[in-house]
Amino acid sequence: MSTDFYELLGVARTASADDIKRAYRKLARELHPDRNPGNKEAEEKFKEVSRAYEVLSNDESRARYDRFGEAGMSGGGGDPFGGGFGDIIDAFFGGGSPFGGRTGSSGPPRGQDLEVIVDVSFVDAVFGSQQEVRVRTAVACDECSATGAAAGTSPTTCGECRGAGQVRRVRQSVLGQMVTTSACPRCNGAGETIASPCSACRGEGRIVKEISLTVEIPAGVDTGQTLRLTGRGAVGPRGGGAGDLYVHLRVAAHESWRREEDDLVTDVPISIAQAALGTELDLDTLDGVEHLVVPAGVQHGHEFVLRGRGVPRLGQGGRARGRGNLRARVVVEVPTKLSGAERDVLRRFAELRGEQVNDDGIVSKIKSAFS
Ligand SMILES: [Zn+2]
Ligand SMILES: [Zn+2]
Repeated sequence: MSTDFYELLGVARTASADDIKRAYRKLARELHPDRNPGNKEAEEKFKEVSRAYEVLSNDESRARYDRFGEAGMSGGGGDPFGGGFGDIIDAFFGGGSPFGGRTGSSGPPRGQDLEVIVDVSFVDAVFGSQQEVRVRTAVACDECSATGAAAGTSPTTCGECRGAGQVRRVRQSVLGQMVTTSACPRCNGAGETIASPCSACRGEGRIVKEISLTVEIPAGVDTGQTLRLTGRGAVGPRGGGAGDLYVHLRVAAHESWRREEDDLVTDVPISIAQAALGTELDLDTLDGVEHLVVPAGVQHGHEFVLRGRGVPRLGQGGRARGRGNLRARVVVEVPTKLSGAERDVLRRFAELRGEQVNDDGIVSKIKSAFS
């Protein structure tokens, strides 16, 4: 279902609204269910083509599609963060496009930005990691070295705009002379025309391909954050620069640790006797085992704070600025199953402190009253 909409309609990315309409009408006639009764394949294709036209026939949704691909189109399903990129972390690969595309205001347009969601384990999010990410993107066509021209030929300078990609129109109006500049209609702003297009890329100078990228996940990231990888999006047509790749992060929960901002928090269960008399225990932290001395009389909910042992604080450019704290929270567990001997000891304890406690008879009476 992730077929490129332009490919589906068989038009170039630079196609005009009229070209798109024409291509759609032609395909819709061919694929219409009335003309292909019982042909499931044609029916599917008809639906896909209709969807592609729906998106590309509207300037606004077409622009969004060009930027984000199909991920940008989903009304609610595919976008877990409600469409906004609240927290964007920049520049892990630095500036330049890895595809060496041309940039600047003239020349072929830049490729679209892409989005991908990456699941990160709790520990990888705390300490950082490298993740293999697969993206469906556009890469430069090798057959024609991204020129779009068939082997042995080369693009020629557009006669209409003489390579500028833009045309100026001078118009007389009541207010005097008006000069407007717009993309050249003959070459769609490319400044060049191709007499015989490359067969591999149909003159686009790029092909759609699924590629694998290694993404550096900085230490301290959390769900809802997005990494922007400059120049790692789709390349533009005919040597145009590459867009950016937006990596949305989704961090999994951990069975014993949770995050509160930059702090790592865990529960330390101890018994009533350990709380009253004190104890020593080994605490498994994400950095290794920590020896914890619990003093006598520690209260339920007390927090032992180990400074600087929490989550790295994410600074500018993904570099860490120190770490949060590690907080171990005491949970005093009251035993629910007591042996006869344990019960006797506790009853004796209560007696010494002059505390009223239920006797066995009352407990069983209460139990039967509530059952
Ligand atoms: Zn090509
Ligand atoms: Zn031109």
